[in-house]
Amino acid sequence: MLKTCEITSKQFEITNSDLEFLTKISPTFNGKRFEIPPPTISPEERMRRRTAHRNEWSFHHNKSAMSGKPLISIYRPDSGYKVYSHDEWFSDKWDPINYGQDFNENKSFFEQLHELDKNVPKLTTTAFNNENCEFTSGTGCCKNCYLINCSEYDEDCYYGKLIQSSKNCVDCAFIYDCELMYECFYVRNGYNCKFVYYSQNVVDCWFCDDLKNCQNCFLCTNLVGKKYHFFNQALAKEEYEKRVKEFVGSFQNFESAKKLFNDLRAKRIYKYANIINSENCTGDFINNCKNCLNSFEMNDSQDCKNIQVGVNIKDCMDCSNMYIKPELSYEVLSTLETYNIHFCLNVYYSNNMWYCLNCKSCKNCFGCSGLQNQEYCILNKKYSKEEYEKLTAKIITHMQKNTEWGEYFPISMSAIPYNESVAQDYLPLSKKEIENKNFKYGQEDPFSKHQGPEYEIPDNIINVKNEITDKILTCQESGKLYKILPAELKFYKQMQVPIPRLCPNERYRLRLKNRNSFTLYNRTCTKCFKPMQSTYSPNRPEIIYCEECYLKEII
Ligand SMILES: [Zn+2]
Repeated sequence: MLKTCEITSKQFEITNSDLEFLTKISPTFNGKRFEIPPPTISPEERMRRRTAHRNEWSFHHNKSAMSGKPLISIYRPDSGYKVYSHDEWFSDKWDPINYGQDFNENKSFFEQLHELDKNVPKLTTTAFNNENCEFTSGTGCCKNCYLINCSEYDEDCYYGKLIQSSKNCVDCAFIYDCELMYECFYVRNGYNCKFVYYSQNVVDCWFCDDLKNCQNCFLCTNLVGKKYHFFNQALAKEEYEKRVKEFVGSFQNFESAKKLFNDLRAKRIYKYANIINSENCTGDFINNCKNCLNSFEMNDSQDCKNIQVGVNIKDCMDCSNMYIKPELSYEVLSTLETYNIHFCLNVYYSNNMWYCLNCKSCKNCFGCSGLQNQEYCILNKKYSKEEYEKLTAKIITHMQKNTEWGEYFPISMSAIPYNESVAQDYLPLSKKEIENKNFKYGQEDPFSKHQGPEYEIPDNIINVKNEITDKILTCQESGKLYKILPAELKFYKQMQVPIPRLCPNERYRLRLKNRNSFTLYNRTCTKCFKPMQSTYSPNRPEIIYCEECYLKEII
């Protein structure tokens, strides 16, 4: 059936299998079944509402509400939320049950939950089992990393997004099983590459796009199984090395190479979507998946719809940032290992949870915030199983009257200003638009101009001295000040790449532009005119091939 989005007034489709899914997850409390109603807003607006609650990149100097000690936080000091360090939050020095509230029939449920959530201290960043990774969020099992997010099992990685099982990578995004990579985007299994995009099994490559099983390639696109190629032409090893040597290390030469690279990228053949080893999937960046529709950045997953970032997930609809085997979820943002949780935010290692935020190792809770190892709680108050069933049934009936049942937390409940949230990456809004929609806007900290003489960065990395790590540099794009970390300098020298002239924020922003927005268009293959769904709109200038035409051409 077609429905009209209550926010945009645009029509969107609800299929029979969507309805079957909602029926399957509809719960029974106190002997009464509570059907989850079909969504009232479009999948895109649902994504906006959910991801407006996640901050991946904006870090703030805040202080612990327990010890008063300074700490790094994804929550602004002026947010009105209390934050604890990881040690404090996981300690027994506080008990979130002490913040418990009685349910009040005269107030809306979201109003009461928001009140509770504002009182309960938050974990300063969402990170687990890391070592020396203070400036990261949305990370797990990482060591010595700095300013990365959506990343697991990494070591010595800096400035990046979605970095999985990788080592010594700087300024990269969407990379898996990589080592010694610089400015790479969507690469699987890469070693010692610089400016390599959309590639698999690549070693010692520079400025390349869409390579498979290649080594020693420079300024190449659409190649499979090649070695010593320069501008897509085979060269003798000595000649290749001579040509590459003319470029390395120098900022000016890199700028020239980037221009040539951009020209090559505009002319190359693109596959309609980055879907690898998958069956019956639509979306983009999908690997080893089955029956995942309108989903993006998905790995090893099945039977999902409308997902942004999923690793090993099953039977989920309208979810974002789901990791390590979550199963059976609707409208959830950010989980690890959960079963049957719905309308939740940052809930980990838990099951049968409804409308909960920031909980770990819990089961059977409704409308709770910041709990650990609890069961049968409502608004952070403990109940017996029978009382829990009864009160939950009463609250859902109340929510049905207020049209809250079946809806995710409103954006007004978000602890994150819209412009610092992931929603801003996916669906950017101007300051004015944010204010017109009554979302929070986080003012940028004022930044001062550099005092004193500007440090002149040598053109070639070989001439850069260690003293640069004491200097304050000015971003050529934003005018913001930034520094080079000692480990970063060592990396640039080893990789023979020049010092970046842009600050990390600008680099991050530019890198994310390599990804199309999460909208699927109906269009045709440039070659055979077969209809297909792609994130490349029909009026984009690139050459877009269907799977068959692409495989015939790129060998
Ligand atoms: Zn075709």
